[in-house]
Amino acid sequence: MTVDRATIWAYENGEPGEYVYSRDAHPTGVEAERLLAELEGAPEGHALLFASGLAAITALLLALLEPGKTVALAEGGYYGTGVLMDELARWGLRHVEFDQTRPPPEDVDLIWLEAPTNPFLTMPDLEAAAAHPAPVVVDSTVATPIHLRPLEHGADFVLHSGTKYLAGHSDALVGAIVSRNADAHERLWRFRQRSGPACAPDVAWLLLRGLKTLRVRVERQTETARILAERLAVHPAVVTVRYAGIGGLLSFDVRGDAQTVERSTRLIKNATSLGGTETTMESRHRWEGDRVPVNMLRLSVGLEDADELWADLERALA
Ligand code: PLP
Repeated sequence: MTVDRATIWAYENGEPGEYVYSRDAHPTGVEAERLLAELEGAPEGHALLFASGLAAITALLLALLEPGKTVALAEGGYYGTGVLMDELARWGLRHVEFDQTRPPPEDVDLIWLEAPTNPFLTMPDLEAAAAHPAPVVVDSTVATPIHLRPLEHGADFVLHSGTKYLAGHSDALVGAIVSRNADAHERLWRFRQRSGPACAPDVAWLLLRGLKTLRVRVERQTETARILAERLAVHPAVVTVRYAGIGGLLSFDVRGDAQTVERSTRLIKNATSLGGTETTMESRHRWEGDRVPVNMLRLSVGLEDADELWADLERALA
């Protein structure tokens, strides 16, 4: 598909056509949304792209909740989600953290899970959450639809930072919400149109290209992550390994200084983010403070050779 970069489409005989103005919708974005909805097993076209993962999270909270409502937020999940909810406390949104491996607290209006949490790698109890009367959102950025389709387990919304595995090459910032329910999907579309955090056509095209290789990338990353998790678990300089058994993300605690280890790799890039073709590793303590152990490293496994990655890790750990 070629990118249509138009922001406007001419009316025919005074009648607006399928596309009018690109903040509402544009052909490249709609094609990516169609594919993503299909991958997640959602009703046709029930996906929406946003300017980033956080723009999607913001839209979901503002469009579906109001002052005085409470979100049950999975503890140990993406730092930015909690920071955003702290920010929105000024607007009357409350949140309580809970252990997502157990049933959510009773008196809440929205349940926010992460599959698996970044960087603590716990998996949610989806069945327990689905039994709760409140709507359930699953941030499935790390699992991807290759490993998990949350709507099939009773979730109401799937959220993605498409910046990570879906686009997959660390060169496109994009978010997405997939909805089960038609009214909620419509409400989110309207909110995006009214508030403006749309995804640009070129970025939607990069996402489309990323989706073509999603399965081969994620399967390879998962295979390599499993090998590295196994080897790290028996390395004398490693105390704990966290791996959910799916996806390319893991974290581990070292006996010594994590920042010395992250500075000592050659093949593995010392950089933030995850889900790209190149392996990256960093201490999240630098960003998240005491929430994360000072000796913990987060590793996002890319497409390099597993033995070469292990050799790099072994050298850095030494
Ligand atoms: N959700 C998860 C699990 C993430 O890891 C991130 C980013 O690191 C986000 C959401 C936010 O996405 P973005 O960086 O595209 O705004």
